Amino acid sequence: MKEVKTGMSESFRDHIATIDEEGHRKYIHPKKPEGRYYHLRTYTSLVFLVVFFAIPFITVEGEPLLMFNVLDRKFIIFGKIFWPQDFFIFAIGLLTFFVFIILFTVVFGRLFCGWVCPQTNFMEMVFRKVEYWIDGDAHQQKQLRAMPLNGLKLRKRILKIAVFYLIAFVIANFFLAYIIGMDEVLKMVHEGVAKNLGTFVSLLGFSTVFFFVYYWFREQACIVVCPYGRLQGVLLDRNSIVVAYDYLRGEPRSKLKKADTVSHGDCIDCFACVRVCPTGIDIRNGTQLECVNCTACIDACDAIMEGIHKPKGLIRYASENNIANNEPTRFTGRMALYSVVLLLLVGLLVTLLVTRDDVDSRILRSQGQTFQSLPDGRLSNLYNIKLTNKTRKEVPLELKLENINGEIQLIQNVVVPRESYFQTSFFVKLNRSEIHRRKTPLKIGIYQNGKRISICKTTFLGPSL
Ligand code: SF4
Ligand code: SF4
Repeated sequence: MKEVKTGMSESFRDHIATIDEEGHRKYIHPKKPEGRYYHLRTYTSLVFLVVFFAIPFITVEGEPLLMFNVLDRKFIIFGKIFWPQDFFIFAIGLLTFFVFIILFTVVFGRLFCGWVCPQTNFMEMVFRKVEYWIDGDAHQQKQLRAMPLNGLKLRKRILKIAVFYLIAFVIANFFLAYIIGMDEVLKMVHEGVAKNLGTFVSLLGFSTVFFFVYYWFREQACIVVCPYGRLQGVLLDRNSIVVAYDYLRGEPRSKLKKADTVSHGDCIDCFACVRVCPTGIDIRNGTQLECVNCTACIDACDAIMEGIHKPKGLIRYASENNIANNEPTRFTGRMALYSVVLLLLVGLLVTLLVTRDDVDSRILRSQGQTFQSLPDGRLSNLYNIKLTNKTRKEVPLELKLENINGEIQLIQNVVVPRESYFQTSFFVKLNRSEIHRRKTPLKIGIYQNGKRISICKTTFLGPSL
């Protein structure tokens, strides 16, 4: 690999950009980005916002498209209801998602953070835009922060707080709709605050948290809290495509001077890339944990390069190997391994989803009960059956003995209500001639509309022979 003398100091590793020497928070006022990536991200975020706000209104056969009701342990994905019994499908789904994210990150770095992440979309494309509208660009924001409290500052602060809180309240309402469903939220709105005081107080609590995150905490959510951000160190390698500074082309950096005869790199040390960065870092120091791949520095540097008639792309999407060795992006062994694991998991997930039963059944012989001798000479055992109906229809069921002659006597008809549990007891009566050991294996078929949907195994307890 070519050795490059960059003259870059490693001192940036001794501090983080958002904390000053005294340990106080340094509030970042990034300059409003402008350029092709920013425009593309604006359109992408519009799609994200439309999808985010539309999903709670979409239903599939009367059920929400997505619902994550952790309170009632009811999850609906693409209109299909998942119950606690389906937890393993959920777990495989989550595992598949994580492997996908890992593979995606190994190849494309933090593309997700810059383009899809709700935190970045809401922060940069909603709240930040409102801030630019109310407070002005970075320079005016800094002036406003520095000025003593006066009429102008008070008016702007009140307006900003009010608009931020209103947006946070709307977001909290939609998050609630993802948990309990939009129908329930609209019902509560109709009924009024007094009837739903508890929910309303929780809603205000969540709105306040969102407000706090977007008004004050901001980039700290990505730097300090987000676990995905902190995983970058182990996920990225020299072939991962990230927002990167081409130090071979840029260094040694130097201020642009007229009639300069010494040859320099293309970086004119103008700090335009630093001024637009929402996490306050200097991408010329290399890939850093704080970088959310928002591309603002690419746009800023491209504008500078255009101004000084140099090719764009001094900062661009590239891997370390692209820059250092001029190598194209390679499909590495690591990527192949993750891809195989991902394919296996997707295969397993699809199989589990396709073979998932609409009705779950479990039969257990009644605890603590032995057999009963009937007046007609037969023997009987008592059983409990537990059923879960995951469909939106009431399901009447029949039980039949599959491996032995005998009779099933139900205590009540087995009709499982929609999206609910059902439990009842029944007797199995067998002739003594069928019993050849103390525990006779039983197979009981569960039938819906004459079609067997499952078989439960249990045993029939008889006298010791
Ligand atoms: S370094 Fe560039 S891509 Fe990374 S967060 Fe800052 S502006 Fe965005
Ligand atoms: S914007 Fe480009 S030219 Fe200016 S400091 Fe950053 S990398 Fe150098």
